[in-house]
Amino acid sequence: MAPLKLAIVGGGPSAFYVASRLLSLLPESSSRASQLKIHMYDRLWAPYGLVRYGVAPDHPEVKNCTHKFAEAAADPRLRFFGNVNVGIPAPITHTLPLSLEALFPHYTHVLFSTGCTVPVLHSALPPSQFCVPALSLVHWYTQHPSRPTPPPLERISHVTLVGQGNVSLDVARMLLTPPSVLAKYDVPKPVLEVLERSNVQHVSILGRRGPFQAAFTTKELREMMNLPDASMVPLDPAYLTVPEGSPKLTRQQSRTLQLLQKGSNNKPGTTKKTWSLDFFRSPTGLTTPNAAGDKARLSLGHTMLDPNNRAVPTGETSTLETDLIITSLGHHAEPSAPWYDPSLNHLRTLSGRVVDAGGRIVRNVYASGWAATGARGVLVSTMMDAYAVADTILRDHFPEEDVHTTPISESDAGAGSGQDTPAAEAIEVLPKHVEADTFPPEVEAGLREGRVTDFDDWNAVDAEEVRRGEAMGKERERMVWEEAREFLASARPRND
Ligand code: NAP
Repeated sequence: MAPLKLAIVGGGPSAFYVASRLLSLLPESSSRASQLKIHMYDRLWAPYGLVRYGVAPDHPEVKNCTHKFAEAAADPRLRFFGNVNVGIPAPITHTLPLSLEALFPHYTHVLFSTGCTVPVLHSALPPSQFCVPALSLVHWYTQHPSRPTPPPLERISHVTLVGQGNVSLDVARMLLTPPSVLAKYDVPKPVLEVLERSNVQHVSILGRRGPFQAAFTTKELREMMNLPDASMVPLDPAYLTVPEGSPKLTRQQSRTLQLLQKGSNNKPGTTKKTWSLDFFRSPTGLTTPNAAGDKARLSLGHTMLDPNNRAVPTGETSTLETDLIITSLGHHAEPSAPWYDPSLNHLRTLSGRVVDAGGRIVRNVYASGWAATGARGVLVSTMMDAYAVADTILRDHFPEEDVHTTPISESDAGAGSGQDTPAAEAIEVLPKHVEADTFPPEVEAGLREGRVTDFDDWNAVDAEEVRRGEAMGKERERMVWEEAREFLASARPRND
């Protein structure tokens, strides 16, 4: 059997879970061990994708998975190449562009774990200085290499979040948690300084549907209720009962209802900062202010549920005066990505295998995580999906072999679930035989110049960020690329 030499495009949680699963199913002690090579390419210079650049700083426990990822990266069969942007236009100027044509000849297998990186926009709310996607805020407070402009928190008092998912609540918490509480976490100093100067007094969180349809989870709602310095504006009592004739509430819905009935720990009127859940409201337009200091006027259509639980207009309208609108409506994959399906908003796959527009399997090309399933689910579901895709890759490559993959139930798995080999027809884009250790010469040159990072670079930066953080009494103090590059040039000179 020819060796399996896999390029993974993307270095986030799904990429690492697939790599880790493959490495552990072919352990170094096994006869097949030397037949596996994995090269992981990420357009960001640091690994871990959403775990580093998406998880809210006050959720440090979510980042524990990085221990497992670092363990996988310590296996000599896995190499990481950071700051390499494969196949699509990069929003980050310092990345090395690498075409698929340059990548493919070096690998027998390719996996896209490129996530969902593009925010869904609202048709009535084009981005402007008054309206930004939540992703800009998340990228600001995680110091993502795309470096969005910091929000003008010093000049504003009222923020409106559109969408009631967990990203929305993450952003609301960051805006309402006292900076002194955030200071011990992985919040970069320049971000803390902006938060310290913030004049935000109220955050409205708008949903087009009701409390039982809200996308946030109870843990995140409870955290809002427990904010030390803010209180929730009491809800209309109509939302605090179960409408007659409703189906039995799910566990999550019952817990949400209990939390909403109890309200916030701080009672209304006792805090300077407040927040509200504004259900059944859908933006229809925005009038921007004529003079500095005036508020924008957000037009809202009132909504109700139709028999299919979709939001439909009631005909009533209202206006909300606000300073900044943050849309938090979910994310989709990059539309220019290969095998992107515009009707799905992510890559077209069948059981983890990539499928072309004509329904043919693209042999030995796979996708996992949000690139394959769309932006849904928490890290555990990403892990289950990644494991299923890894198992599919191994079973496709070693069909006759005793590689111990454990079937994952359909309910647990996502993109990778379903084990049957579909349609016989397939197209080939990858070579069958390749050199064991080669990779594109542009990447080799990038490594020599210090533009492309490897995992040893990351280990050095990671230790230094933690050291700098400890000196400041916090989890870590992050570096931006320019600082990391300078640090690496002195800590790990390339001519050794
Ligand atoms: P999400 O969970 O899909 O929530 C999107 C929200 O936007 C929903 O409230 C949705 O309402 C609303 N929406 C979408 N289109 C809309 C429109 N045209 N008009 C008005 N509202 C609209 O997305 P997310 O918050 O980005 O989260 C993505 C995934 O990451 C989720 O699985 C989430 O749980 C996970 N995540 C988890 C954590 C955590 O565990 N702490 C943190 C962040 C993210 P409808 O339901 O009415 O469509």
